[in-house]
Amino acid sequence: MDQLEAQRFGLPDTVALRVETGTVRSGQSLSHLLTPAGVGPQTLHRIATEERDVYDVRRMKAGQDWRLFRGPDGRPRHFAYLINRKDYVVFDLNQGGSVRKGAFPSETRRDFVEGEVQGSLYQVLEDAGHTTTLALAMSQVYAWTIDFSRIQAGDRFRILYERDWVSDEADGMPRILAAEFVHRGRNFPAYAFDQGDGVDHFDETGASLRKAFLKAPVEFSRISSRFDKKRFHPVLKKVKAHLGTDYAAPHGTPIVSVGDGVVVKASYTKGNGKYVKVRHNSTYTTQYLHMSRRNVKEGQAVRQGDVIGYVGSTGLATGPHVCFRFWKNGQQVDHLREEFPPSTPIREDQQPAFADAVADWMEEMARYDGGSESQLAAQTP
Ligand SMILES: [Zn+2]
Repeated sequence: MDQLEAQRFGLPDTVALRVETGTVRSGQSLSHLLTPAGVGPQTLHRIATEERDVYDVRRMKAGQDWRLFRGPDGRPRHFAYLINRKDYVVFDLNQGGSVRKGAFPSETRRDFVEGEVQGSLYQVLEDAGHTTTLALAMSQVYAWTIDFSRIQAGDRFRILYERDWVSDEADGMPRILAAEFVHRGRNFPAYAFDQGDGVDHFDETGASLRKAFLKAPVEFSRISSRFDKKRFHPVLKKVKAHLGTDYAAPHGTPIVSVGDGVVVKASYTKGNGKYVKVRHNSTYTTQYLHMSRRNVKEGQAVRQGDVIGYVGSTGLATGPHVCFRFWKNGQQVDHLREEFPPSTPIREDQQPAFADAVADWMEEMARYDGGSESQLAAQTP
């Protein structure tokens, strides 16, 4: 055990070494760790100064693991600090010893899985022996397209992904290279591609799988009150947080959903008046208050731009307006200050490279599942 550990760090004379293992605690420096272990001040000084070019010990962080190797006489010989899962640095504690950086063997492996959803995607992937973080990676790729909390038995999927491995342990999140998800009979393909600004996922036409929200829920309106945590309320005559943006518009002006989603509330309260709440995906929900009339029912699916109600002044309102509320991960935020990821399609000059990449992914997926290449793709509308 000790010998294998010493070999992992490429140490000489591993047979005689004994290893101690630990984690850097908050506020702990190299001297805090090594002085009690019996390492003298000259050695520590040399490591901290002369060897700074190789590794600056002030960059050691709490929470990272270390190993101390002692010789048969009990004296400390080598100290290894794990910079991350893959990289480490070894300090030779012998007289005149040096500092050297190293890395554990690592590789990127590809894998493929296909199946049919019975319960949850999470469950079916786990049952098939794949990492459960694959379901999380899928939900991120499809956040704007498919609500994975609402998938149905009978939905099918094929996923080609890759993952980094360090010393035979998975490291980090799996990356979706290509996927097809047949939801309610319709195929939603996703292909990873980097057109120079980072990897994004696109459908077969090169459209980004991410969608932008409309800037405002009413056309030809003006903002009469912004999101303000310390607003003086005009009706209540006291300071009350205003967790929305007010768009003033004439009574009866159509109010539209700023994105695709499902109506989770179409209701009334004394403060909100008649209101509608739309869930867009696992991250974003929007809410529209003070309607004169609602135009949708709870549970109804809506598309971006669909009229969900009409401007009014029901509830606590001084005049006709819609109070637009934007929820992100359950918190109300100022949507005018939110930075949304870009949803740019594949550029024209990148189209040939994208087409090649898609052809490669399709071919590779077909190799994995034995040649049924366009089984799902044939259903793409
Ligand atoms: Zn408001």
